[in-house]
Amino acid sequence: MVLLGGTSSINYMHFNRGSPRDYDAWANASGDPSWNYYNMLPFLKRIETYAGEYKSDQHSYYGPVLISRPQYAPGLDYWLEAGRQLGYRVRDPNGPQKESFTKIEFSKLLGRRGSSYTAYITPIIASLPNLVILTNVNATKILLKGKKAVGVKFETKLTNSTVLEDVVYAKKEIIISAGTYGSPVLLMRSGIGPKDVLEAAKIPVLHELPVGNNLHNHVSMDMDFLINTSTAVIDPARDYTAENMALFNQTGDGPFSSSGGGTGQAFVVSSVAKSEGEGDWPDIHFTMAHSTESYLAGTGNGGAPAMDFTNSTEVPMAIEAFVSRPKSRGTIKLDPANPFGPPLIDPMHLSDPRDLQIALEAAKESIRIMETTKSYAKLGAKFNVTAPLPACANFTMRSDDFFKCYITQLSSTGCHPVGSCKMGQATNDTTAVVDPQLRVIGIDRLRIVDASVMPNIVNANTQVAVYAIAERAAQLIIQDWQSGKPSTPTVKSSYGLLDSFLKAS
Ligand SMILES: Cc1cc2nc3c(=O)[nH]c(=O)nc-3n(C[C@H](O)[C@H](O)[C@H](O)COP(=O)(O)OP(=O)(O)OC[C@H]3O[C@@H](n4cnc5c(N)ncnc54)[C@H](O)[C@@H]3O)c2cc1C
Repeated sequence: MVLLGGTSSINYMHFNRGSPRDYDAWANASGDPSWNYYNMLPFLKRIETYAGEYKSDQHSYYGPVLISRPQYAPGLDYWLEAGRQLGYRVRDPNGPQKESFTKIEFSKLLGRRGSSYTAYITPIIASLPNLVILTNVNATKILLKGKKAVGVKFETKLTNSTVLEDVVYAKKEIIISAGTYGSPVLLMRSGIGPKDVLEAAKIPVLHELPVGNNLHNHVSMDMDFLINTSTAVIDPARDYTAENMALFNQTGDGPFSSSGGGTGQAFVVSSVAKSEGEGDWPDIHFTMAHSTESYLAGTGNGGAPAMDFTNSTEVPMAIEAFVSRPKSRGTIKLDPANPFGPPLIDPMHLSDPRDLQIALEAAKESIRIMETTKSYAKLGAKFNVTAPLPACANFTMRSDDFFKCYITQLSSTGCHPVGSCKMGQATNDTTAVVDPQLRVIGIDRLRIVDASVMPNIVNANTQVAVYAIAERAAQLIIQDWQSGKPSTPTVKSSYGLLDSFLKAS
């Protein structure tokens, strides 16, 4: 199967911009105020056709990505009520985000996924004769002439033993959007990267840059609970019926509209953020998953057999807790033994002790939500350690030491890697790979547009920030190639932008 759209075609579709302060930090890191939240808001709005529940001037109604939320959301009321009982406000996660409990909104049109491909490319592909999409190809090298990028070498695997190689040459410029893992790898294989990494891999150093540093990601951990009724969860044995499939086909709603069961979320500030003067910048993100799906599919509970909870009084549900502004930084490098094989990724999760502290507070706050609120008392919610944890056996259950052990044993990738081709200042910034115009520093005609350029991760799911970077990049590219006729962020949709670019080119 050929899948276009990268991870936007497989993700959970949770639609969150992140905090205004995330974008302000991009502006600080790049020394360019055009990346701050105020200036990025038009690009964030331009993404959406907003059909969510928090209509306001913070949203737009003309963009390519439809934002909506299925009405079917069992258990969501318990979540929002628990938040209120703990003193949190319930508010729009995107308008602008603050400490709060909220409903999750999705990049969905009538229950169906809107990906970067279906939202941005499908509607216009028929009218773009000069757009050629090659599938099943792997870009292997950016070709340089001196310090100018001139072409892309790529290969197609026809059979296990037959690989076809070819080159495309650029008339104007080359834009890499291979993601946080793919973009740095492609640069390094092309001779652009840290000297020691390239030399170890025996790749000629054509241009030295700190490619592959600053890798970071949300650290995620499942906090598992038992509740006393399956009515507050999506229960496949009960809900995945032919009638509900018909309902989904007609309305895009109902149990089949669920993507992993996430319906509620919260943004919370840890003591670490407060102590650093960032009390208005949440660094914990909770996603509440009223879903037994993974258990029934046999993928939960350490791969235990599928179970049926329909009439059970011990029904699992989970809160996924993210360290949403991690301080730890990792690396991605070429493998010296196999530079054209899988790269060496060292995420260094939790290597900064502040991240473990934030994770600890996230674990304890999720228990406070579930075990101390009247809302969840109605469901008899209780913390439930599902996996055997021999490494933590010597710690008193629920002590800080136990939770730190639990976190180090059970936390994993939040699936939001960013930062490996960091945007920074064009001069005198030893950490920067691209400048504020997203151009690879020191290389002519080469730009990167994807999650890898984020200097710091946004404090929520990363797709929207990537779209905003892409919208911004579209404007930068137009400005570069339409000198004297820069576009403005007041254009209502990206279709207009693209049209004007094509007419001018
Ligand atoms: C399981 C999962 C769930 C997620 N859930 C959410 C969510 O609910 N909400 C949200 O906002 N975000 C979510 N995300 C994150 C979000 O999808 C990503 O942050 C975002 O899509 C990243 O976009 P990107 O363009 O930077 O990279 P990618 O999406 O990784 O796209 C890069 C593309 O480049 C291709 N590529 C790489 N190297 C090469 C090469 N050498 N030659 C040719 N092609 C190449 C890749 O195959 C891929 O198609 C999730 C991610 C995952 C994995």
